[in-house]
Amino acid sequence: MHILLMGPPGAGKGTQAAELVKEFGVPHISTGDMFRAAVKEGTELGKQAKACMDAGKLVPDEVTIGIVRERLAKDDCKKGFILDGFPRTVEQADALKGILEDLGLSLTRVLNINVPAADLIERAVGRRICKKCGATYHVKFNPSKTEGTCDECGSELFQRADDTEETMKSRLSVYEDSTRPLIEYYQKAGLYTEVDGRQAIDKVTSDLVAVLKG
Ligand code: ADP
Ligand code: ADP
Ligand code: ZN
Repeated sequence: MHILLMGPPGAGKGTQAAELVKEFGVPHISTGDMFRAAVKEGTELGKQAKACMDAGKLVPDEVTIGIVRERLAKDDCKKGFILDGFPRTVEQADALKGILEDLGLSLTRVLNINVPAADLIERAVGRRICKKCGATYHVKFNPSKTEGTCDECGSELFQRADDTEETMKSRLSVYEDSTRPLIEYYQKAGLYTEVDGRQAIDKVTSDLVAVLKG
C-alpha cells in the first residue's frame, strides 16, 4: 500500500491521510508537516523552509528530495506509506521513481483529490490545526465542538502562518505551474485516479477507500 495523495493546497490531503492511516495502518508522510517541524525546532532546514513557505513558494527540489529520501529509507515504509504533498514538481517525481527503485518498492496508486480553485482559499483561510496532535478542523466546514479547542486531545488550535488569502494566491499559482503537470505524468504511468473532493469529508474518504480496496 504505497500511496501518493495529491491535490491542490487545501484540497483535503491531510484530512484524508489521517483517515487512511486509520484504515490501512501505514505511516503518513507529509513534507509540509516535516518542514513545519523543522521550523519549530529552528534548524537550518527550518530557516530555509520558512522563507519559502511564508512566501507561498516551493522549498527547493534538492532540499525536499533529500528529506524524503531519508524518510522513505526507514523500516516502517516497507509495508507502505501515504505520501502527502510530495512530489510537487516533475523533478521530484523523477527523483521519487529512483528512490523507490533503490528501495525495491513501487507505487500502488496515485490519488488526486480534485477541488476547484474557487473553493480552496476559503478552505485554507478557515483551517485550524491542533498544536499537539495535528488534527485538522475548519471553522465552517468541520468545526471543533468547542471553538479553539481540539476534540481529540483538548489542546489549543492554531492557524498556519501561510493560510492567508495572499499566500494562497501564490500557492495556487505555483500549483498550476509546477504541480498540475504531474496529473498527466501519473496518467501516463497508469497509476492515476481522481476523486471528487467537493463532497463531504466522509464521502471523500469512502471513495478513496473504495479505490484502494477495489
Ligand atoms: P498544503 O496544505 O497547502 O498542501 P503543505 O502543508 O503540504 O501545504 O505544504 C506547505 C508548504 O511547505 C508549501 O507551500 C511549500 O512551501 C512547502 N512544501 C511542502 N511540500 C513540498 C514539496 N514537495 N516541495 C516543495 N515545497 C514543499
Ligand atoms: P491539504 O492537506 O490538502 O492542504 P486539509 O486536509 O488541511 O488540506 O484541508 C484544508 C481545510 O479544508 C481544512 O480546514 C479541512 O478541515 C477542510 N476540509 C477538508 N476536506 C473538506 C471537505 N471535503 N469539505 C469541506 N472542507 C474540507
Ligand atoms: Zn489535538
